[in-house]
Amino acid sequence: MKAALLKRLPSPALEVEAVALAGMPHDGIEVTVEACGICGTDLHILSGSSYQPTLPFVMGHEPVGRVTHGPEALLGRRVVPSIFVGCGRCDACRSGDERLCHEGSLVTGVLGLWGGFAEKMWLHPSQPVVVPEGLSPLTAAALVDAGTTAHHAARLALTHEPWRVVVLGGGPVGFLAASILKFRGTEVTVVEPNTLRRDALAALGYDTLNHLDRANTRPSTIVVDCSGVPAAFVTALDWLPPHGCCLVVGYSEIPSMDLAVVSRKELTLRGVRSGRRDDLVAVLDLAHRQAIDIPPIATWPLEEINAAISALKSGQVAGKAVIALTGWE
Ligand SMILES: [Zn+2]
Ligand SMILES: [Zn+2]
Repeated sequence: MKAALLKRLPSPALEVEAVALAGMPHDGIEVTVEACGICGTDLHILSGSSYQPTLPFVMGHEPVGRVTHGPEALLGRRVVPSIFVGCGRCDACRSGDERLCHEGSLVTGVLGLWGGFAEKMWLHPSQPVVVPEGLSPLTAAALVDAGTTAHHAARLALTHEPWRVVVLGGGPVGFLAASILKFRGTEVTVVEPNTLRRDALAALGYDTLNHLDRANTRPSTIVVDCSGVPAAFVTALDWLPPHGCCLVVGYSEIPSMDLAVVSRKELTLRGVRSGRRDDLVAVLDLAHRQAIDIPPIATWPLEEINAAISALKSGQVAGKAVIALTGWE
């Protein structure tokens, strides 16, 4: 099969070449990949600042494809993976939080399991989620991780019964979080400095800001930080009112920070790591019912994956970057 291989870390690019699909267990489910999204985490892995998979490795944790080998009930079905595989025995795994497995989880396309920047891949039996009939593979790819993460963040934000939520970062996760919150009847303001992304949101009627307004013209008690930008997080803590809550979705590294602001205002910080299988199922259903807006999708063929990565790095993608493989209508 053809695959985009990660051969060293850090690495400026992936190398597209022929490689055998290896390591499929007897109960593995073979998937012929139709499309696979590219996520900010992929850029972090390439830069050597994130996960360190064993090399060579095939990244791509937002795949969608047709089952070409596996249980009869799944043969020919379009599926996406629930990307985390845990031990299956610990408390976290047994309550559906495989991503928090006490033994550490494997993550498709990120750590330990080859992903979807390839013509074929295999999944553990616990992973496939059937894509609702009629939902395009490109849309499904945009939801595998970005949609799951956004649904998880929105679900946690809604437990605070906010009348407005401020979302930092209008990339695919922030876009989808805003979209889900709007569907649930909450006012949303998205803060995004990139004009392309901000315009895409504004065109759909979202309230947007270039930067978090210290004059507090959009008061809110909940900030969902999808930006991964250290300054945005620090500003958010400064900006939140007493008893405010910051959901930390994007990963940012802050060399030093005075946490007095957290104590003095009794703020809550809550982390969000991707989401549960239920979140994936729920967001696929919302998209299938056309209840939520989907970020604009830009596609590249597998052979041009490095061009897609460059476009993402330089902020030229308004919505979701997706690698489209052949074989889908
Ligand atoms: Zn991701
Ligand atoms: Zn476990």
